[in-house]
Amino acid sequence: MAQKLKTIRHSLAHVMAHAVLNLYPKTKFGIGPTTEDGFYYDFDLPSSISDKDLPKIEKEMKKLIKKNLPFKKEFVSYQKAKEIFKDQLYKLELIEELKKNKEKISIYTLGDFVDLCRGPHIKSTKQLQNVGFKLVKVAGAYWKGSEENPMLTRIYGIAFENENKLKEYLTKLEEAKKRDHRILGSKLELFLFDEEIGAGLPVWLPKGAILRKIITDYLYQELNKAGYQWIVSPHIANIKLWQTSGHWDFYRENIYSPIEIENEKYLLKPMNCPFHVKVYNSKVRSYKELPLRYAEFGTVYRYEKSGVLHGLTRVRGFTQDDAHIICTKEQMEKEILNLVKLAIKVLKTFGFKDFEIYLATRPKKFIGTISNWQKATKALRQALDKMKLKYEIDKGGGAFYGPKIDIKIKDSLGRPWQCTTIQVDFNLPQRFKMEYVDKDGKKKEPIMIHRALLGSLERFIGVLLEHYAGALPLWLSPEQIWVIPVSEKYKKYAKEVAKILKDKGLRVKMKEEKETLSKKIREGEIQKIPYMIVVGEKERKRKTIRVRERKKGDTGEMDLNKFIEQIKLKIERKN
Ligand SMILES: [Zn+2]
Ligand SMILES: [Zn+2]
Repeated sequence: MAQKLKTIRHSLAHVMAHAVLNLYPKTKFGIGPTTEDGFYYDFDLPSSISDKDLPKIEKEMKKLIKKNLPFKKEFVSYQKAKEIFKDQLYKLELIEELKKNKEKISIYTLGDFVDLCRGPHIKSTKQLQNVGFKLVKVAGAYWKGSEENPMLTRIYGIAFENENKLKEYLTKLEEAKKRDHRILGSKLELFLFDEEIGAGLPVWLPKGAILRKIITDYLYQELNKAGYQWIVSPHIANIKLWQTSGHWDFYRENIYSPIEIENEKYLLKPMNCPFHVKVYNSKVRSYKELPLRYAEFGTVYRYEKSGVLHGLTRVRGFTQDDAHIICTKEQMEKEILNLVKLAIKVLKTFGFKDFEIYLATRPKKFIGTISNWQKATKALRQALDKMKLKYEIDKGGGAFYGPKIDIKIKDSLGRPWQCTTIQVDFNLPQRFKMEYVDKDGKKKEPIMIHRALLGSLERFIGVLLEHYAGALPLWLSPEQIWVIPVSEKYKKYAKEVAKILKDKGLRVKMKEEKETLSKKIREGEIQKIPYMIVVGEKERKRKTIRVRERKKGDTGEMDLNKFIEQIKLKIERKN
């Protein structure tokens, strides 16, 4: 965030505090920092307030801004500070901390409001006259975030350079709310969360399970074409495996407590990699077999604090479209190029066209030889260059065991989401003593590449839902067609139509409930069904159908075979 905007936001926090002081004179003041889109201030108010009081505070703020009040900074002694804030218990606490840390104490005066603050601030409230701001929420917050402290009242505001930018942001926020995958997920009956099952553990409902299957079937096809082999590994494994892989030592905070079975410790798997290594190591490998590409829809479990869990995008158990490529040094370049190609193709098929790409290079602490790092980094860079993809170098941002490419997709609201990772690894081959017999008969260590294209199926589906606001493309829609008879009389014909469509491999639902036609159509619209077929007297007689297309409405009478031909083509084209 630009410093200027940050300064404006923080200055608004002071203005808000002044407004609160005017309206609720006995208020005790906490702190008022900036946030990602604005600011907040924590108050200990003499009486409780709610969102309804926000317009009043806003109005008071605008009055203060009009007065062109200057922000005056002053350094004061510890004694003076204590005197100024003698009635402000929270400020006194902060003053003690400043003293303890031997920091200079500075205060800012704005009209009648004096605050303990480091700054910086704008010169005067004149600079706020064209700023677009809005108070959005009242919430409770413990002083210093600790439950042992008193609960204060936090007022959140958002602010942007001008009114237009604020409006734009509010529209986007409104749009994002409508697209919230957690709401869509239950409305479209795709997945559920249940307290008794546990936080961060989604259950896929029939329609959601089909969606997963459509996605994984598509990936199966693509990966088969790309020469992958499939693996299925267990969900728990002996702790020894994770000790060898290093996960127990370096990744422990993400792993759940061991499970004891017959005096041996087992861990829920946080990764699939060691299993794939074991498959590789199960035989003596020759250079002739390489590259080997092992893929798995591997479900992993990682510890996340309950506070950070969020719908499908932050969960405790999720399925990666994981794969490991084991190849020679010489093959690495081509393999990586093919991986980038495949990733972009797959992401584009799902409708994503904007990417943010990062190439993360060698950090200070690393393993492996510099020459291998250089070779791998060059291979990653060349792949991106050859594909003419724009990317940023994340200098030193690689893992200690190898460089990587991260691809984030941008959704229809321009929000980036981490998806593809292509990661070279010099660590696991060493730890597991992976080798192959080369042409010269000598044993050599192969290169291992970890990669996930979508990342996690859960998060990817969450992003898909928000990207399309729930109106998934035809090929991904769990229910593609609803067949609706206009009345009981035409049920038989409707069933015939539905059967023909089903036999053609389409996902069809008969809507034969005793409800009005308009109610069913409205429900289909809410459920974002791509096509609704309505049949009545005319259609039955002429052996035709009447088609309603999502977003377009009634598109008229149609020959059934022609309809099938058209939508089959659409599905084939992944529309
Ligand atoms: Zn300040
Ligand atoms: Zn891996």
